[in-house]
Amino acid sequence: MNRDRSYYRKQRKRAIHRKEGILSRIGGEAYIFTWAHGATGRFAKGKIHCSCWMCRRKSYDDPQLRDKRMAMDAAEQLREIEWGL
Ligand SMILES: [Zn+2]
Repeated sequence: MNRDRSYYRKQRKRAIHRKEGILSRIGGEAYIFTWAHGATGRFAKGKIHCSCWMCRRKSYDDPQLRDKRMAMDAAEQLREIEWGL
């Protein structure tokens, strides 16, 4: 698709603005400066989140559903024994 320069200008500005907003909501001006090193044009490309295992959260980090069910069943059985049911 042929797009003119105004399209790319807008998209670039939009991307920069979005990331600035996210960062300022997290940690204010200082945060933006740390990420951009004083040049907010950097936000035109790249992502601003950390994907290391300490920061990210993935469904596969959770125990499997079957394991959760087994743990719940075990707890239930324990409770029944305790209450003499
Ligand atoms: Zn991280």
